[in-house]
Amino acid sequence: MHPKKERTLIIIKPDGIQRSLIGEIIQRYERAGLKLCATKFFVPTAEHVEKHYLLDPNWLQNVGEKSIEGYKKKGEVPPSEDPIEVGKTVVEVLKKYITSGPVLAMVWEGAHVVEIVRKITGGTEPRSTDVGTIRGDFVIDSYKMADGDKRAIRNLIHASGSVEEANNEIALWFKPEEIMDYRLVQEQIIYDVNLDGILE
Ligand code: ATP
Ligand code: MG
Repeated sequence: MHPKKERTLIIIKPDGIQRSLIGEIIQRYERAGLKLCATKFFVPTAEHVEKHYLLDPNWLQNVGEKSIEGYKKKGEVPPSEDPIEVGKTVVEVLKKYITSGPVLAMVWEGAHVVEIVRKITGGTEPRSTDVGTIRGDFVIDSYKMADGDKRAIRNLIHASGSVEEANNEIALWFKPEEIMDYRLVQEQIIYDVNLDGILE
């Protein structure tokens, strides 16, 4: 498979829809040269959200570890030192968050798309992520504030964390026939070996 065929799942979460950021978010990925291949606008069920986050058996542990580290980096005390316990709380609050309104699920394609999309999106916690990323520019939430209020961190977007995660997530959210195989005219400029046909 050519690297340009890599795909990822992006979801604009309910807060992203409510903040009227659909156009802005799509523009960030589109202007990077990535290609939109599928969309779906609906309110997911709690079962679907749980399935999505538990696709990766290590997710509970990872999300817990990342949260605990987030506190420690700021010199703050995490609510628990047990990553699995933290992870289980996060799944519960995520179910409430992601089912609170419509979401826009999308498949995007392009070279290194998983990595590039995570870079454009920014880190999990808006408070500590870089300016210039979507989460850094448009939202101000933190582990401390979310956990204090017993809710999920509102960070506008979900984006797959690895190629394997992307393939599993895309299969959960889309049927193969819902994903478009097509060529964008600009791909010639982005990927073709020879820039033929520009000069008249
Ligand atoms: P996503 O998977 O949504 O793209 P991510 O990969 O940056 O985000 P994960 O570690 O997979 O982050 O966590 C999934 C989501 O769970 C986060 O985007 C955030 O909304 C929420 N979340 C993570 N940790 C916490 C926490 N400690 N408290 C509240 N919500 C959390
Ligand atoms: Mg993730």
